[in-house]
Amino acid sequence: MKYKIAGILACAVILFIALMPTPDSLDGSESPRVHQHLQAKAQQESGRDTAAECSHGDDVLCTHLPLVVIDISDDEIPGDPVHRSNGNVQGKYTVAEDGESTVRAEMRIMDSEGGNNHVNDEAAVSSLIDIRKRGNSSRHFDKKSYDIKLVTAEGENNPQEIMGMDSHHRWVLYGPYLDKTLLRNYMAYNIAGEIMDYAPNVRFCELVLDGEYRGLYLMTETITAGDDGSRLNISVNKKNQTFSGYILRLDRGSSNPLKNIDNFSSYTRRTRQILNIEYPGTSNLDRELAEGIRKDFSRFEKALYSYDFDDRDGYRKYIDAQSFADYFIINEFSCNYDAGMFSTYIYKEADGKLKMCVWDFNSAWDNYQEAAVSPYGFQMQNRLWYFMLTKDEDFVDLVIDRYRQLRKTYLSDDYIDNYIDETVEYLGDAIDRNYQVWGYTFGSDCDLLTPKDRNPGNYEEAIKQLKDFVHLRGRFMDENIESLRQYCAESRTKKFKEDSN
Ligand SMILES: [Zn+2]
Repeated sequence: MKYKIAGILACAVILFIALMPTPDSLDGSESPRVHQHLQAKAQQESGRDTAAECSHGDDVLCTHLPLVVIDISDDEIPGDPVHRSNGNVQGKYTVAEDGESTVRAEMRIMDSEGGNNHVNDEAAVSSLIDIRKRGNSSRHFDKKSYDIKLVTAEGENNPQEIMGMDSHHRWVLYGPYLDKTLLRNYMAYNIAGEIMDYAPNVRFCELVLDGEYRGLYLMTETITAGDDGSRLNISVNKKNQTFSGYILRLDRGSSNPLKNIDNFSSYTRRTRQILNIEYPGTSNLDRELAEGIRKDFSRFEKALYSYDFDDRDGYRKYIDAQSFADYFIINEFSCNYDAGMFSTYIYKEADGKLKMCVWDFNSAWDNYQEAAVSPYGFQMQNRLWYFMLTKDEDFVDLVIDRYRQLRKTYLSDDYIDNYIDETVEYLGDAIDRNYQVWGYTFGSDCDLLTPKDRNPGNYEEAIKQLKDFVHLRGRFMDENIESLRQYCAESRTKKFKEDSN
């Protein structure tokens, strides 16, 4: 009998352990997210990193990071802002000689496992690309960022796995310039990738463009779907006018008017920004499909802005509230206040719920050019969809509980300090090489931020600024996160249903 009870107990314990939710792992063992610097460290520790001493001279470019070499021959890369004598022409960009927005080029990526990379090494990836400059304010910077599309000689999509990231044909080659730490996007995407279902994959690399060394870059997965290896599970059938999901972006709108949708929050003037369809892309989209997507998305917004928005038939039917809460927390924690207005991605997968996806932390943690961001306050509750979500007690509870939980893991001071230190250590002399080209930006005659005293004088200062702001922000949020309840507090105006009876 004793053994029987022990047996039942043992079974119960095993069952209990098996059914327990997997905790967020901090050692990376259960996480499919690849953090480049942690992966390299693990390889080193396991003895797989057998980087031999190079025998070449000091004049050869030699890096432990993947090396991207792009050759364009004689052409200029299009996408520069068009200037007139009286200033810039808003939203107009230079085009190639043939009138296209991109130019054809060759790209080779040297990425030897565990070893160093050089321009003349055998390439791990080699493809033709269509390339253009990208960004809004960042197009005016000396160090450019690029949109890259891998293509075949016939111009067909040519998806490739790059630096261990899932196969894709569209990439962003982002050059940190305003972000003197070089770390903001890398860290934010990777932490978001641990917390949320989906965040762009990202890897550090170095760039040689037409034979010229251009410094440290981040190869970044674009937020897109499709059948060429993208990680988002969305399918569209233009012929049958069916779709299992879509990706939308709130920003300044697309140059293709078909992609810009007149959704509920747009025609009711709740936002001045424009929501545009990112996926399906131009070749897979027509007027009927765009209209179907507009209607589908507006159902969510109508539910959100209705009197019974927090009922059973309200917004919850349409969204993954956890994803919206995580997006709120990550952007609020980093004071990334373009979120919810610009570069704001929202998507629907085959499971039918809308989710948010993070993008662009260049200006996060007090790195906006124009003025300092206060770490003492909250702003996300004023952003489009969050204006209503934060009127719901359940949603605010979710945000507060989740924040407290994340402060013990991925958003703790220790985790982030350590993350920064380990990444800086991993980047090593790539940081020096980058600032041999771009180091003049630390000079007092090149102040990118106003007022002047916000500009770090060197790399160490930039890192210290980032850490100090993270600590300050975390402490403020710890002490004040409960104040978000003011937006969902019961009030006479909120009790309209009872009053109207
Ligand atoms: Zn070498």
